[in-house]
Amino acid sequence: MLDNIRFVLVETSHPGNIGAAARAMKTMGLGRLELVRPKLFPAAEATARASGAEDLLEVAQVHPDLFGALVGCRLVVGSSARLRSVHWPELDPRACAETLVREAVQGPVALVFGRERTGLSNSELQCCHYLAHIPTNPGFGSLNLAAAVQVFAYEVLQAHLAGGSEGAVVEGQELATAEAMEGFYGHLTETLFELGFADPSQSKKLLRRLRRLFNRARPDRNELNILRGILSAAQGRKLHRRERWRARPSESS
Ligand code: SAH
Repeated sequence: MLDNIRFVLVETSHPGNIGAAARAMKTMGLGRLELVRPKLFPAAEATARASGAEDLLEVAQVHPDLFGALVGCRLVVGSSARLRSVHWPELDPRACAETLVREAVQGPVALVFGRERTGLSNSELQCCHYLAHIPTNPGFGSLNLAAAVQVFAYEVLQAHLAGGSEGAVVEGQELATAEAMEGFYGHLTETLFELGFADPSQSKKLLRRLRRLFNRARPDRNELNILRGILSAAQGRKLHRRERWRARPSESS
C-alpha cells in the first residue's frame, strides 16, 4: 500500500535536499520518490545526504513536467508553506496522511512539494485536490524542503500503523486519473472558447473555479466520459450552427 504513495519534488534546486528527502522517506517506510526537472541530479551531494537511502535515489524517476509524475494518480495533494489567497480545500498533515493512506489502497496517490524559493506555482496547485499545510510559527512558517517531507512521511507511517487502510476498499469505483482530468480540463477550456463563453487567456479565475468544482466532485471514469461526451456534443452543435449560418447567404441568393 505504501508503494502507491508518491512523494513528488518539483524543480528542487539543491541536490542535498533530494538526498535528505529520500532519507526522510525511507525512515518512514516510503520508497516512491519522483523528481520533476531537478536542477542537478544525479549528484554527489544528493547521494551523500541520502546516507543509506541511495536505493530510493537509484529508482527515483525524473520527469519533464508535473503531469508526468502524476500519471495514474487518483488523488493529488500539494504541500504549501503559505496558505494562498486562492481558496482551495485544505488538510492538516494528519488528515492529509489519513487521506493518502486510505486512498492508496485503491491506486496511486501523490503528495507534491514545491521549489525551495518559490514553492508551487498556482497552476501546479490547481492540479491538486487539496493543499496541505504544516502549522508553524506565523512569523516564520517555511520549513526546509526535506524537513517538510519528514513531517508528512512521519504522519503517513502513523496513519498506516493506525490501520488507516483497513476497510477502505470501495467496490467498483474507478476514479478518473490525473491525466484523464487534465485531458478533460483541456477539452472544457477549448469548448468554452469555441462556444464563445470564455476566452481562456482572459478567464483564469473562471477556469480555476471550474477546476475546483470538478476536483471536488472526484468523477469516476464513466462520469468523465459522459462529461466529455457532452462537451463533444456541444462542440458539434456549434459546428452545425456555424455550418447552417454559412449556408444561409447562398440559400437566400
Ligand atoms: N518560500 C517558499 C517556501 C518553499 S519551502 C514558499 O513560500 O512557498 C519548499 C517546499 O517545502 C514547499 O513548497 C512545500 O512543499 C514544503 N513546505 C515548507 N514549509 C511547509 C509548511 N509549513 N507546510 C507545508 N509544506 C511546507
